[in-house]
Amino acid sequence: MTQVTEKPAATKGLIERMQEHGHEEVLFCNDSTTGLRAIIALHDTTLGPALGGTRMWPYASEADALEDVLRLSRGMTYKSALAGLDLGGGKAVIIGDARKDKTEAMFRRFGRFVDSLNGRYITAEDVGMSITEMVNIRKETNHVVGLPVSMGGSGDPSPVTAYGVYCGMKAAAKTAYGSDDLNKRKVAIQGGGNVGRHLVDHLLKEGATVYITDIHDDKLAAIKAEHPAVQLVKPDEIISLPVDIYAPCALGATVNDDTIPKLKCSVIAGSANNQLANEDKHGRALMEKGILYAPDFLVNAGGIINCAWERRGYNQQAALSQTEDIYRTALTIFKRSQDEKIPTYLAANQAAEQRVRSMRQAGLGF
Ligand code: NAD
Repeated sequence: MTQVTEKPAATKGLIERMQEHGHEEVLFCNDSTTGLRAIIALHDTTLGPALGGTRMWPYASEADALEDVLRLSRGMTYKSALAGLDLGGGKAVIIGDARKDKTEAMFRRFGRFVDSLNGRYITAEDVGMSITEMVNIRKETNHVVGLPVSMGGSGDPSPVTAYGVYCGMKAAAKTAYGSDDLNKRKVAIQGGGNVGRHLVDHLLKEGATVYITDIHDDKLAAIKAEHPAVQLVKPDEIISLPVDIYAPCALGATVNDDTIPKLKCSVIAGSANNQLANEDKHGRALMEKGILYAPDFLVNAGGIINCAWERRGYNQQAALSQTEDIYRTALTIFKRSQDEKIPTYLAANQAAEQRVRSMRQAGLGF
């Protein structure tokens, strides 16, 4: 019998790593004049052009940047597939410090690389980017979404993302407690940024008790000024608060070996991407602990739904209405997870993979 030994990611060849999760194409971009170093990954374009944001981050190594873009682009395929969009999954990363390395020339050069993919990749804003960079990219390519309303775009997607998280949270409550009413439910939000602060609004309107934390006091002060009923807590208190629902709306990997034993909630539903530090290990640990996890790429799809509507001619009401479908999809995923006794993340992955596979088999792809 042949023994198969798993090689560490760093020793695997690039094509071998692309084969692992079925990535179609990876474009390495280098421009010494502007200092641009970027990687664009197209995971799967069966359902449509690969749409996913560009992230600018001071990665410690190229290997880290590659790992991030491969993982994030795959997540985008799953997100769009589950949201019922005719879009594939892609992502781009730019290696650099967003506070000091940005120039117009760099982003216009990046726009040329995006354009060279002839619409197979459509970019948008992600961590470290702002509307200014998106406008500069747009000077060199049409394949950009999330542009300002003044340029015919859909503007900031965060309110729609927050609405989708709220819909997914209600579906989780319905499954966990038998009612989707969030009145008097206690919800702990980690991160008072663009999504977190809009989520506060929906929850307070429904009568929930809302706790929120952020590492920046000025953000918390602004939320408190707008919503006096919200309760502010310290960043290290949020995980162990005795609440019904934990809503991670800051960074990824906050559900891990260290935090799971401290969690007192029965539902996790938030916007942050890649909440589970290790998808399988921590997805199963939550199931064993009786915590219902609403898969992040399922409930945070409002932003991409908004971007998809920008491509058709933006209509915010239509985008919000399609975002409400997250409620029904989440109920289906939770039921599948219960019926098949599998973690919710796996039920969501399988549903997304099924849609991609069936379109590919029927020859209905992009
Ligand atoms: P944001 O940068 O506006 O907000 C994140 C907030 O989290 C910031 O205020 C930051 O200070 C805070 N934060 C960081 N580390 C923290 C910590 N340890 N404890 C407490 N607070 C901390 O980002 P956003 O647009 O609100 O997005 C939030 C998350 O949702 C991100 O992970 C993002 O990738 C994801 N997401 C956002 C959208 C969208 O439409 N904006 C769509 C899909 C997914």
